[in-house]
Amino acid sequence: MAFIALKNGAARRDSGVFSNENNFSALMSLLTFTVLIQFLAVLAIGWLVGERFDNAPHTIAIAAFLFVFWLVWQHRRFERWLDDTDGSTRMGYGGLWTHISDLVAKRIRGMRYEQRLLQEDVEFFKDSFQAISSAVVFLDRERKIAWCNKRAEPLLGIHPRRDQGQMLAGLFRAPEFIDYLESNSYVKPLVIPSPVNPLLTIEVQATTYRSDDILIFARDVSDVVQLERMRQDFIANVSHEMRTPLTVITGYLDTLKMSADSLPPVWTETLDKMLAQSQSMDNMVSDLIWLARLESVPARRDLTLVNINQLLATIVADARVTAPQKKFFLLIGERHKENEFALEQTDKYKEQFAVHGLYDELRSAFNNLVQNAIKYTHDKGEIIINCYKQSGELRLSVRDNGIGIDSVHIPRLTERFYRADASRNSEAGGTGLGLAIVKHILVRHQGRLEISSKLGTGSQFTCVFPAKRLGEIDQSKTAS
Ligand code: ADP
Repeated sequence: MAFIALKNGAARRDSGVFSNENNFSALMSLLTFTVLIQFLAVLAIGWLVGERFDNAPHTIAIAAFLFVFWLVWQHRRFERWLDDTDGSTRMGYGGLWTHISDLVAKRIRGMRYEQRLLQEDVEFFKDSFQAISSAVVFLDRERKIAWCNKRAEPLLGIHPRRDQGQMLAGLFRAPEFIDYLESNSYVKPLVIPSPVNPLLTIEVQATTYRSDDILIFARDVSDVVQLERMRQDFIANVSHEMRTPLTVITGYLDTLKMSADSLPPVWTETLDKMLAQSQSMDNMVSDLIWLARLESVPARRDLTLVNINQLLATIVADARVTAPQKKFFLLIGERHKENEFALEQTDKYKEQFAVHGLYDELRSAFNNLVQNAIKYTHDKGEIIINCYKQSGELRLSVRDNGIGIDSVHIPRLTERFYRADASRNSEAGGTGLGLAIVKHILVRHQGRLEISSKLGTGSQFTCVFPAKRLGEIDQSKTAS
């Protein structure tokens, strides 16, 4: 979010306070020098007068005493003047002291001017922040509210005066928001319902500034969310509507295929093509409906503890049945070496892992990755499913020695309908939605997807789950 505040009025003038710095210290040296000269002159006069009366030591002492007395008196006057002055008065009858007081008065006037300018700047920024339609909240390093604008009340429920100095987390208790605030990583904004009005959807973007202070912008994005919801509903409705005719068409094609013997040979080939197309249409409709469901149903908090070992074992067992020509290798609890492929087809379970999440979603995500590895490897290709802990996070990778992906495509692979190579993908029968689904599911589990690949060598897709999502399996309930 860019924020530009234009200020009307004259350009700011330099008060000239600090340019007098050198003059001031020169004057202080001059004062010391003058006082010294004056003191010597007074001593000389005392001596001359004393010589006349043959009593020089006494007159010198009296002269010195009078001079010190005068000096102390001037100093006291100067102090009194300094206590009272607002920079508009001067200290009279003091010679050099008056000169110094003038300079000090000028400094005071300059500092007051600077202070006024600073105050004006503060007011200008406060007024600018008050004028914008977003809520703005400044937090100090203890996450207490230092300042907020008026919009913070209707959007976040924070009152500018009443709540100043309060802990933000105590006022705004949405768990997603607390997680976001504590994450200290504010790359992406958070979109949540407003705590004041659930009909409003707000986008919250935090930024750290100075060492540990936080600036929060929150804006109303209800219209954008509404539009997005309409788009999702439209896709979901169209997909549902397509499902019935597709089932009917596939059913008729299957029936025709069963009596293919009685049809001319050219029809058999055509029927096969039609069946393949209707099957891929069916896959796409299923993926679209699944994606629409993931987008519309909020990430639930009543999660179950999903046994990752069992889930992966099931997926790999199914894959071995559907793709018997490929080699699968399942390694849990130990990191498999990079660039090394399985030599023996055995499964190793060295540790038990569990993730707090939704079984159907996690199964769909891992299965998508395994199915892609099957699709994009040559016959007899090798696929390693490796699950292990690293830096507290759980990493689940699916590696293959298949066709690989050119690095230019990698950043866009999780976009809907993005395909690295349209021609080879149509042969593989993909929908272009699989990785979008995987990414969506991982985000719902506070995880992320990492992709590395080399064209012609193979690919690795890694699902990473944060430590807070991991759980302990009750060993007594685990099937051996
Ligand atoms: P699709 O259904 O087309 O496979 P995905 O979203 O699952 O769609 O994948 C997007 C694209 O990423 C694929 O079209 C393919 O080009 C590429 N891709 C995905 N997985 C692999 C893999 N294991 N090896 C090579 N390319 C892959």
